[in-house]
Amino acid sequence: MFGEFERQGAEPVRTMEHPLFMQYGPVPGWAILLVLFGVSGGFFGYQVWKATKLVLVGKPENRFDNWGNRVSEVLTGWLGQKKVLKDRIAGGIHVLMFWGFLMLSSDMFDLASGNQFSQKVLPELARGPWNLMVETGYTIALVGCVLALIRRVVFTPEKLKGKSQLEGNVILLLIMTITTTSFVVEAGESTVSSTWEPIGAWVASSLVPSTSVVVAAYWAHMLSICVFLFLIPLSKHMHLVMAFPNVFFHDLRPMATMEPLARGESGKAVLLDDLDVESFGAVNYSDFTWRDLIDGWACTSCARCQDVCPAYASGKDLNPMQIIHDVRHYANDHATTLFAGESPEEDIIARFGEGSIWACTTCHACVEACPIYIDHVPKLTDARRHLMMERMEFDESVEATVLPLMATIENLESDSNPYGLPAHERGEWAEGLDVKVAEPAEYIYFAGCAASFDERNKKVARDTISIMKEAGLDVGILGMQEGCTGDAARRAGNEYLFQMLAETNLSTFEEIGVKKIVASCPHCFHTLGKEYKDYGG
Ligand code: SF4
Ligand code: SF4
Repeated sequence: MFGEFERQGAEPVRTMEHPLFMQYGPVPGWAILLVLFGVSGGFFGYQVWKATKLVLVGKPENRFDNWGNRVSEVLTGWLGQKKVLKDRIAGGIHVLMFWGFLMLSSDMFDLASGNQFSQKVLPELARGPWNLMVETGYTIALVGCVLALIRRVVFTPEKLKGKSQLEGNVILLLIMTITTTSFVVEAGESTVSSTWEPIGAWVASSLVPSTSVVVAAYWAHMLSICVFLFLIPLSKHMHLVMAFPNVFFHDLRPMATMEPLARGESGKAVLLDDLDVESFGAVNYSDFTWRDLIDGWACTSCARCQDVCPAYASGKDLNPMQIIHDVRHYANDHATTLFAGESPEEDIIARFGEGSIWACTTCHACVEACPIYIDHVPKLTDARRHLMMERMEFDESVEATVLPLMATIENLESDSNPYGLPAHERGEWAEGLDVKVAEPAEYIYFAGCAASFDERNKKVARDTISIMKEAGLDVGILGMQEGCTGDAARRAGNEYLFQMLAETNLSTFEEIGVKKIVASCPHCFHTLGKEYKDYGG
């Protein structure tokens, strides 16, 4: 309820009409707001619909499992901002704005309905606490904005220097307008209470804004929200919409677990003998799953992935943030073709660039750093899978990377190790150790290629066996029956070779009755422990 000021004791009371119900010439306020929200809300809705449709062009994938884990990750990762807060300063500022927005959001409906929400929908007892929550939201969002602006303008982080700050700064100024005007609008309400809206009450009693100032503040507030609605889908702020589904539907498997070529009805990988796949990896936008594609719209452009990427740091073509931006830009550039169910002439590999695709070490530092649970690596490894298993043609610019890789692949095919050393020499590192070789034991030590063949690394394998024996464990090795886990082939895109090596090792495990495996090589540890499960391991 709005009104003219009347001094009543310490607090002024208004009885002015709500700006929404005032007449502005021949036009009522509600009609103006209807047009403003109709245009901006319509644009926002259309853009969200378009993005959703572009996401759904992706391949199907079941991400509706494990609701308990998903809800818990949303509570800690999205609502609790646990990954955002890993950067104490930028994360802390973001948390102020994010939580502030959550707390103030219902006030938008209240203001847009001329206080009908708070006066008619909310029970009387809830009005005070609700007002306090909303005002606290405006306050912490404002504090967050001011700090963010200071960080950008005064203490500009290295990664932002030389880049346009216009978009980010305009958004911050809009939020500051929304938050500051809210206090003036509150001050215009006759119900403003120093208990539940202390800032609004202070503005009312100390600054005593005139009716025209309150009305101007109201329209500045609503107009800023409308402009914000326009800018969200056109900017990185689309993450306000897409971060939630991105976190909810993220990959719950252990990090860096790769997807087999095909899964059978049991959910396990289809074995090579039964495999019937027409095309390999990703060359088209629609070869990615819908969850892969949400990433493009969820990215906040915080550049944390860029900061930690060793390929980027060493000056290679790859920037993981750019890969994610490419997904969204590619989709928008080719939206008409994609909606028609066709493949654009430019494929997604061309958009990423082979230099980027082959520069990735698959270390997953980017995935670990990303606050929005974006999965950069499958986009690159799926593209590699296509290049390696189907196209078999490589850009001249990547020959220096790909040719040695092809030699490694040949070595893996012929000798089951990347060095091309004779497979029968594989167990020689254990000579004189008095350890069981290729016979049942409680623990099998899987040495891996490096510890089997590299002179310096052999010491690791020998010492591991000595320690295990010293501990009184029943330990054995596979000797020349051990083969490469296939990790390198898989990450290089040769999934077929990986699966061949995995199936060979698994049949050896079965033959010997292997139950528990110890690995000192991190690659073997990950592949045996996390990825062989899909193949029955
Ligand atoms: S996984 Fe690839 S893109 Fe990600 S940080 Fe490592 S090298 Fe960079
Ligand atoms: S992908 Fe993640 S870490 Fe990288 S810029 Fe986007 S939100 Fe930040």
